[in-house]
This record gives sequence, structure tokens and C-alpha cells, in this order.
Amino acid sequence: MTMMRAWAVGTPGRIDTRPLVALDCEVPTPGTGQLRLRVRACGVCRTDLHLAEGDLAPRGDLVIPGHEIVGLVDELGPGASRFACGDRVGAAWLAHTCGTCRFCTSGRENLCLDPTFTGWDVDGGYAQFVVVDEAFVYSLPESFDDVAVAPLLCAGIIGYRALRRTELPRGGRLGIYGFGGSAHLTAQVAIAEGARVHVMTRSPESRELALSLGASSVGDTNDAPPELLDGAILFAPVGDIVPVALASLDRGGVLAVAGIYLSDIPSLNYDRHLFQERTLRSVTANTRQDGQDFLEIAARIGITSTVHQYAFREADQALSDLAHERFSGAAVIVDFESD
Ligand SMILES: [Zn+2]
Ligand SMILES: [Zn+2]
Repeated sequence: MTMMRAWAVGTPGRIDTRPLVALDCEVPTPGTGQLRLRVRACGVCRTDLHLAEGDLAPRGDLVIPGHEIVGLVDELGPGASRFACGDRVGAAWLAHTCGTCRFCTSGRENLCLDPTFTGWDVDGGYAQFVVVDEAFVYSLPESFDDVAVAPLLCAGIIGYRALRRTELPRGGRLGIYGFGGSAHLTAQVAIAEGARVHVMTRSPESRELALSLGASSVGDTNDAPPELLDGAILFAPVGDIVPVALASLDRGGVLAVAGIYLSDIPSLNYDRHLFQERTLRSVTANTRQDGQDFLEIAARIGITSTVHQYAFREADQALSDLAHERFSGAAVIVDFESD
């Protein structure tokens, strides 16, 4: 087989204009230190939507999105030795870092000055095959099947980093704003670690999911949680929520913004939103260590992914449904072999 099916971003635009195009292209060949994966499942991340809609500028023509990739190693490039053909691995957002800049050499490769990202700079997993750098893929816990583990690879890892960025104390009070793929995984880690979790989301379906996972309370986006918060994570890409969340922090509390994209933040009032040493932080990508740590914890606590499956030929529908909030939890593309 020398040709494969893939979805690529054509002309970025609102999802209803169908910015994703289906195409036939050549099966890629792995270079030095690379692996080719036969894709088994690929999670659908909000970042894919931002890319398709042009919120994130495309970094090339017809880039193939998708960075929650579960695949079987299909061919080893020259020098690749970490895995064998047939091994199941996961490829995520971080495709490559330079390894030499001041951030890479100080344990902060998420801030690398010259990184590449899967499904943005290099082709991702909305395709039957993908080529990845072997140093940047993860071994996957056997306790998860392909579909269950896919959303862990971005939604899970980034949410986990966001949780750590809140520096939530043991048994602390955590607010979660927006409750989709990433939030529903992060909430499970926080709850397993003893946090009381309050979820603010406009979706009644997501509120129900939050309660079923053990949230202490649920409310609408602009509702105040029933107690002040030690930490909060903003998952919804809505800058208007920033002051709302800051106002719900206790003294010394931290708000972490988890997304790669956020609409503008309205002006803040120093006294109401920041004074008393409240902190507003962003979260930028993740290190490989974050990924490993999270996958270990996820396996240990038996995290459950609420997943909506889409056949490969329906990938654009999955993005459209994400845009229109037609499901709660995470979407995963499967069934890559059928037309
Ligand atoms: Zn670097
Ligand atoms: Zn993502």
C-alpha cells in the first residue's frame, strides 16, 4: 500500500463551511529516529477545531490534524530502536523539541524555543498512517483499550499539567470552568487525590457527568461555587470567565488557563480579582515527564474516559459536533480501514 486516506485543513473557516477536506496522499516514510504508526484511534481535541477554524494560524498547506494518536508501530526508521514493529504506542501534541535551548536544558521543554507540534507543524493522526519521532511517543498502559486511552494523550496530559499549575494543596478546593474532554479526566485525578471539586458549565449534560464522576457541586458558568477555591482551571476558551473565576478564589488561590486559545480577557479590577495574592497563570503544552506521570496516575486510579466514537470518514462531523457541543466527554475517531 503506497497511498492512504487522510483529512487535512483546506481553507480554515467556521466549521460549518467544512474546512476539513478528505484526500488521498502518500503513506509517509519514517526518517532517522522515527517510527511509522498504523493509526488505530485518534482523539479529537479542541485545538483541532481552533486549527480548522483559523483561530490558530496553519503552519503549512493541508496539514493533517490530530494529536491524540494510538497506533501500532508499522515501520522503524534508520536508528530507531526504542520500540518494535507491532508495539502499541501513543503520540501526542509535543512532536519534537530542540533539546538544547535554555528551557529544554532546565526541565521545561514545554517552553522550547524551537518546538514542533503534532497535527500543526507536522502531520497528525487524522490519517491511516503517521510518522512520529520515537523519543516523543509514550508506551501505553495495557489496562486501557485504544479508544479509552486516546483522549488521555492531550486532554488528559494538558489537564494534568493545568492541575499541577494550580498547586492545589491536598484536600484542597478546586473549581473547574467548562467540562469537556480534558476537564472530565482532570476532575478524576483531583478527586482521587482528595480534592473537593466544583464544576461550572453551561451544559446540563456535562453537569450530570461531573456529578457522576464525584464532583461536590455543579453550577452554571457564572455561578459562584458554594465555597471559595484554592485553585481553579479554566477549560472553556472564554476570556469572559477569567474575572468570574478569579473572584471565586480564596486568598492565595491560583487560576490556571488550560487552553492554547482564549478569547480576550476583559479588564480586571485589582481589588476584586487579584489582590490577596491571587495568581493568574497560563498552561503551555507539556513536558514528556508530565505525560509519563499522568499516564501512570491514570492507570493507577483507573480513570474512565467518556467517549463518543466517530468512524474515520466522519471526522469532520466529530469536529462539528464538538463546535456545537453536541456531546459531553471526548470524541475519538476509529475505524480507519473502512471507506
Ligand atoms: Zn528547546
Ligand atoms: Zn490537544
